[in-house]
Amino acid sequence: MARNYVAHAEELNNPLPETPVFFMKHENCIVKDNQAFFYPDFSKDIHHELEIVLKFCKDGKAIEPESVPTYFDEIGLGIDFTARDLQDVAKSKGYPWEVAKAFDHSAPISGFIPVSEFEDIHDIHFRLDINGKTVQQASTALMIFPFERQISYISRFITFKTGDLLFTGTPAGVGPVKTGDHLEAWLEDRKMMDFFVK
Ligand code: ZN
Repeated sequence: MARNYVAHAEELNNPLPETPVFFMKHENCIVKDNQAFFYPDFSKDIHHELEIVLKFCKDGKAIEPESVPTYFDEIGLGIDFTARDLQDVAKSKGYPWEVAKAFDHSAPISGFIPVSEFEDIHDIHFRLDINGKTVQQASTALMIFPFERQISYISRFITFKTGDLLFTGTPAGVGPVKTGDHLEAWLEDRKMMDFFVK
């Protein structure tokens, strides 16, 4: 999901969307088990975007908002690494964003926690620290489009499959990373990610 938190849309000078905006990453983007993120040679401005990630437990097409909660059963965190310099060029020319968003290893993910372990999925707190300093901190309560709206909308166009991951948008505080940075991410009080940029 793009532009799903007001403060993040404003920090990039983007207008607030009237309908959910989404793009796709693919299998080669995924990095697991706190493996290092290797800074790619085609960008000089890679940004971190910490996001809540939902894991689908069944297939679904044209999902009604009220049945959305039955389609995902685990929640984790992911970083939507973005080549902001390439994205700015793509945006200015009206080109697709894949070059800036879907490059190999652009989506490190954490492990996953069952939905049943969360008191209220509409108010989950999450945070990212870089080199010991908090850079992103938010709650799912601040989303423009809650999970129900995102999934019912996207599934009108694209069938969700079991195992699919939905990155639900980044809150404010995105910024550049550099070689040597230490990233640590929390979901409520559980440390979920701990890796380096190399
Ligand atoms: Zn993102």
